[in-house]
Amino acid sequence: AVRLSNLNVWFGERQVLFNVNLSVPLNTVYAIMGPSGSGKSTILRVINKLILLRPESRVEGRVEVMGLDIYGDSVRPDQLARLTGMVFQTPNPFPHLSIYDNVAIGPRLHNTVKKSELDSLVRWALEKSALWDEVKDRLRDPASTLSGGQQQRLCIARALALKPRILLMDEPTANLDPVNAAKIEEVIRELSRDVTVIIVTHDPGQARRVANRAAILFMGRLVREGPLHSVLHDSYSQLIQRLTEEYA
Ligand code: ATP
Ligand code: MG
Repeated sequence: AVRLSNLNVWFGERQVLFNVNLSVPLNTVYAIMGPSGSGKSTILRVINKLILLRPESRVEGRVEVMGLDIYGDSVRPDQLARLTGMVFQTPNPFPHLSIYDNVAIGPRLHNTVKKSELDSLVRWALEKSALWDEVKDRLRDPASTLSGGQQQRLCIARALALKPRILLMDEPTANLDPVNAAKIEEVIRELSRDVTVIIVTHDPGQARRVANRAAILFMGRLVREGPLHSVLHDSYSQLIQRLTEEYA
């Protein structure tokens, strides 16, 4: 579903990713792990091209998403919007828009469904995000009236409403309590039947609960990659500590 070949990324003079090669098969949940500053968020930003919003960035190498060379071929913004969806660490719904409009905004903007189909699409996305039952009687309330965990599930629904092939999640539960985090993990496991999920996480436990493949980044380099059980075969924290001592 996603293939990075010889990926190098710079911010100004500073190189932050070094020759990263990585393949994410269809319908997997793929965990990207590594210490702070190792380049995890940068990889997601390369896959959704948000990195181009940083004028000082430079991307070299090949990035294929669903067979499309997204930096080489000409890819229209609406095409890109339907390839990948993104969920950030801090829930960021549009606070003044209603719950309904937060989910409907993508399909409206990109004209992906008929008006008559919008209601059922919104319902579908909210169901997939395990939020429907909690909000079905208050769809017109502003998103700001939801709890943090509900807002994050709303952000998942907003991303799903464009029916992306790949869902990118950058530490989606980092700011949530364990109950809400567990709900989102359940959502992720269910999603993987029809969408490929790439999730950045600091938590090896979370990777074990949701992912089937994983990569570990260290100082911009891919140091481990493969099926989850082999990547997390020995203790993750011990591996990071050993690498830190080696490179210190
Ligand atoms: P964290 O776990 O803290 O979120 P991360 O693994 O997601 O870390 P990135 O955000 O990908 O790390 O950053 C990788 C490196 O790139 C870091 O050293 C960071 O300081 C640097 N970096 C990120 N954005 C910029 C920028 N706009 N200009 C310069 N350096 C940047
Ligand atoms: Mg990050």
